[in-house]
Order: sequence, then structure tokens, then C-alpha cells
Amino acid sequence: MKLEGLSYKDRAPIAIQIEDGIIKSLSKSDRALPDTRLIGPGFTDIQVNGYARYDYNSLENDFMNLGQISRSLFKEGVTSHFPTVITNSPEQISKLIRQVIFLRNEDPLASLSIEGIHVEGPFISQEDGPRGAHPKEHVRAPNWDLIQKWQDEAEGLVKLITLSPEWPESNTVIEKCVENGIAVAIGHTNAKHQQIEDAVKAGARLSTHLGNGMHPILPRHPNYLWSQLSMDQLSATIIADGFHLPPEVIKVFKKVKCENLLLVSDSVSLAGMPPGDYDLHIGGQVTLSPEGKLHLRSNPKILAGSAMNLRQGVSFLLREKLANLPEAWEMASIRPERFINPQELIMESGGKADLIQVELTSDNQLKIIKTIKNGQEVYSLD
Ligand SMILES: [Zn+2]
Repeated sequence: MKLEGLSYKDRAPIAIQIEDGIIKSLSKSDRALPDTRLIGPGFTDIQVNGYARYDYNSLENDFMNLGQISRSLFKEGVTSHFPTVITNSPEQISKLIRQVIFLRNEDPLASLSIEGIHVEGPFISQEDGPRGAHPKEHVRAPNWDLIQKWQDEAEGLVKLITLSPEWPESNTVIEKCVENGIAVAIGHTNAKHQQIEDAVKAGARLSTHLGNGMHPILPRHPNYLWSQLSMDQLSATIIADGFHLPPEVIKVFKKVKCENLLLVSDSVSLAGMPPGDYDLHIGGQVTLSPEGKLHLRSNPKILAGSAMNLRQGVSFLLREKLANLPEAWEMASIRPERFINPQELIMESGGKADLIQVELTSDNQLKIIKTIKNGQEVYSLD
């Protein structure tokens, strides 16, 4: 298979030769190509609770339904995603993880798209505010035995855990995770500066959706936001849906974190659904506004996950002039991919052929034309 278009990086016309799922070569294309048709790496979303009515946090009557998430995300240019299982009872987390594994074993397309599992909680802060919409009754201290059990059930697919280092058990658990190839993110935290510093020393490398899952009002300093911003070892994910963070905050985070700022969607099952009132596992009763803002019905100030996907996040950064096209694209593709696997070859010969072809519209929206996953065409508009 050969894919031609203008490179997302510099708009140079390129041809990518694909063989056996791998990029065999990249070369200059001599063909006259439309100047709005771009190609680049597919998006990688390391935080997907659900999408298009299906939810990784509820047990489906037929787990095969969850395969619709991968298919819907392929249409949005997302070539890899991490199902994200949030705070719940240990037994329920086990069941939800096994559900993902059953799905992967039975559904070849979902198996292509699901490259890891993100366990967000239950080892987070009990405090209102930092805890966000996670159910308080299931929040608990970090426990390596539980993580090991989940990792066995996940057949090694748990690649990311979000926890709060405010628990005394945190640092030993972080060290264990890192030793066993699980990346640790700090999130939903009320930790003190020293606790965050110790967590970083123990091996935590990421802040999950920085700027969200926080108290509405913080002491001016010290606070856990300054602490996480100040530590260069911490990359950060952000939700760029236009509601979770105002543009000026993203602008500052970008200046501080530079190439270590990554996009996630944090999408829930209502992403891609019509506006209205809904009942969800996360936070119970929520409202999706016509503008796409998803919040607790009882308190519009508390967001309950996002209803946007990464393509929309990239479009938001462009529209608000928070990043240029190559950078916005990489925040949703190369950066999260390399965070999980630093050695990975991306859009280079020898790397896996996870590519998208995109039309850039006059109002800076990305329209997905074609999605290629492991060299296989998994979506085409034409
Ligand atoms: Zn969260």
C-alpha cells in the first residue's frame, strides 16, 4: 500500500510505502497533490472512558458492543487508545479489565486499537474537589497486590496508573509499578509539595489532566498545581475541549511543559451523543450541553469527563491559536505514543504504519479522510 499527501510537519509532498503493517520507506512524491490534504501519524488517546454511547466502566450484556468505541475512534483519526477504568470496587475493576481482554480476544479491530489499559484510581484523594466525580466509597490506599492482580487479569496490558501520592503507601507502590513497566501518573491529588517530590523520585512521570480534578479554590502557594508545574520530570496531559481549561491556562502549561505536554480526550460514553440529561457510572446524573460541555447535573461547575475526541482537541488548539498544526498534531500522536514507549519509531521506516490522511478545512478543522492502523485501512471517507 502507498499513501501520498503533504507531510503534516512541513507540507512537503511525500509518499509512504507500507508493507506487512510496517512503514517500508518514505520518499518525496512527484505527484501534484492538493494543498489541503495532509498525512501524519494517527492519534493516540491514553484516556478513554467511553465513546459513542459505550462505556468501559460498565459491564455490557454483550462485551462485543464495546468494539464500537474502536470503530468510532478510527473515524476520528484515533489509531490507538487506552480504555480507562476509574475508581470502583476492586472486584468491579477486575471485571471491567477482563471485559476489555475478552473484547480484544474476540474483536480483531478492537485488538488493533487497544494498546494499553489506564487504571485511574481508586488510589486517589478522598477530598471533594480533587476526587472529581470518582465515587468516594471506593477510594482507598495504594495497594501493590491489587495492581498485580489486575495486571495478571489484564495479561500485562495495564500500562498506566493514575494515583495520588498523598497516601503513605504511595512511594513503594510507585516503585513497584515502574519496576514492572507500568507508568505512574499523579492525578486527583491533594498531595503536599514534599509528597509530590517524593513520588517523582519514586518514578512518577506524568500529571493526569493537569488543571482538572482539583479544588475550585486553592491556597496561593504552596499548592499541588505549582508543585507539578515546577517538576521537569513530570509530563502532563490536558483536556483541550474548550471547557476543562481556559485557553490562557493551556498557554501557560505549554510554556512550562514544552514538548512534554500531551493531549487526552478523557471522553466518556456521551462523546458523540446528542445534548441532554443522562445517567452515568461516573458521577451519576450528568448533563451534556448543546455546546458539548459535560457536567454534574447538581453542579454545572464540576465537569464529569469530556464529550470530545482528540481530533476536536487538536482543532481547538488550532482555532484558539494555542499551537501550530505540527505541534497540535504531535501533542495528540507522537507525544503520548513516546510517553508510553520512548523507543518507538513513528512515521519513520521500520515503524508501525499508524497513519491518517486529513483534510484541513478553511476554519482550521481537521476532517479525517483515511485511517490506517498497522498498515490496514480501518476507515475511509472516499
Ligand atoms: Zn480524572
